[in-house]
Amino acid sequence: MIHDKSIAAYEAARAVIPGGVDSPVRAFKSVGGTPPFIERGEGAYLIDIDGNRYIDYVQSWGPLIFGHCDTDIEAAVIGSVRKGLSFGAPTETETELAKEIVALFESIDKVRFVSSGTEAVMSAIRLARGFTGRDDIVKFEGCYHGHSDSLLVQAGSGAVTFGTPSSPGVPADLTKHTLLAKYNDLGSVEKCFADASDSIACVIIEPIAGNMGLVPAEEAFLEGLRQLCDAHGALLIFDEVMSGFRASLRGAQGITSVTPDLVTLGKVIGGGMPVGAFGGREEIMNRLSPDGPVYQAGTLSGNPVAMSAGLASLRKLKEMPSLYRELEQKATRLVEGFRAAAEHFGIPLQVEVRGSMFGFFFNDKEVKNFDDALASDTERFAAFHRGMLESGIYLACSQFETGFICSAMDDAMISETIDKAFKVFKEIA
Ligand SMILES: *Cc1c(COP(=O)(O)O)cnc(C)c1O
Repeated sequence: MIHDKSIAAYEAARAVIPGGVDSPVRAFKSVGGTPPFIERGEGAYLIDIDGNRYIDYVQSWGPLIFGHCDTDIEAAVIGSVRKGLSFGAPTETETELAKEIVALFESIDKVRFVSSGTEAVMSAIRLARGFTGRDDIVKFEGCYHGHSDSLLVQAGSGAVTFGTPSSPGVPADLTKHTLLAKYNDLGSVEKCFADASDSIACVIIEPIAGNMGLVPAEEAFLEGLRQLCDAHGALLIFDEVMSGFRASLRGAQGITSVTPDLVTLGKVIGGGMPVGAFGGREEIMNRLSPDGPVYQAGTLSGNPVAMSAGLASLRKLKEMPSLYRELEQKATRLVEGFRAAAEHFGIPLQVEVRGSMFGFFFNDKEVKNFDDALASDTERFAAFHRGMLESGIYLACSQFETGFICSAMDDAMISETIDKAFKVFKEIA
C-alpha cells in the first residue's frame, strides 16, 4: 500500500495542529506509522487520500452503526440543513428525539441534549452532586468518561494508551473528590463507602466497559453497586455513551436488570453528528436549570441538524428488530475467527462480544479489570494492527479500545477479515 499523500498530509497537519490530530487516539502513536488521512467513507469502507480502501471496524469510534453515508440519515441531515443550521431556540425535533429515548429507557423520564459524551458525563456528575448535596464520586480504574477534570483519573482510552493516567493541568484539588475502585470488584467499592459513606454523591460506571478494551461488568457486581448506592443514598450513573444503542437497542440496560438513576448517552445517538445526552428520574432531572438550581447550558446543544441525524438513526434502529442479533453474530464470527487463527500459531487471545461491540486482548488470561487489561502484549497488538492495516483492515489503533460492526458489513467481509488475520498472525507469531 502506498501512503505518500497521507504522510505529506500528516506533516502539514503537525505544523499547525498539536500532534497533527484533534483527538490523541487518532495519531497511531501506540502502533507506529502514519494515520491514513480520510477522503471519504462508503458503507463499511473507508477510503484514504492515497486511494487505499479499508474495511472499517472503528466506525468513527462507535457512532456509525449503519456505516458511512447511510441514505436515510443523509436525507434527514440534508433536509434539516436546508432549514437552517442553528437557531439557539427550541425545535420540535429535540422533543421528538427525547420522546424516543424516554420510551426506550425505563430509567429515563427526562433527558437533556449536549454536544459530546464528555459534556453529558460532566453535567450528569454535577447534577448528581447538586441533587445529593455531596462532593465525592466513585469511578473505576480503566473506565473513560470523557476528558473533564475530575474524571481524568486512571482513565481508559487514549489516557491509558499514552501512559498518562491523569493529566498535567488537572489540579489535585479537583480530583481529590474522585475515589477509585476496581472494576468487577465489589469489595473495592465497599471500601470507598466505608471510608466516605456520607460524602459520596454517585458511583459512575461503564456497565459494559469499552475503553480498556471490551470488559463487561458481571451481573452480580452491578447488582451490588445498586445495593450499595441505595444503602448509602448515592446515585448510580451508567455511562452508556459507547454501549447505548450498541450493545443492544437499550445498551447495557437491555442486558442487565439493574436500573441506574442517571444515564449518559453519546456516539450512536447522533448518527455521526456531535450529540450527547444525559437523563434519569424526573425528580433528579427537575433540579436542572431553569426548573432547578443546577446550572448547565450550551449554545449548540440540541442543534437541529444533529438532532435530525439522531432521530433518523433511532427510528431506523427501532424498525430493525433483528439487527442486534445479526450484528452480534457477525461480531462473534469475527473474534472467534481471530481466536482460532491466533491459536493456530500459538498466540493466546482473549475475545469478548456484546451486541455490535467486540474486543480482543493479546493475553493468556481472562480480562476482568484494568490490571488484567494492562497485562496484555501491546507490542504484539501493534504488530497485528500494522499488518492488518496494510491488508486493508482498519482496526482501532490501541489494545485498549473496542471494535464495532456496522449493518453495512456482510459475511464476505467478515470472512475476508479472518483470512487476512490468519496471514498476519502467521507473520507475528
Ligand atoms: C467516548 C466516551 C465518552 C466521551 O465522549 P466524547 O463524545 O468523546 O466526549 C464518555 N464516556 C464513554 C463511555 C465513552 O466511550
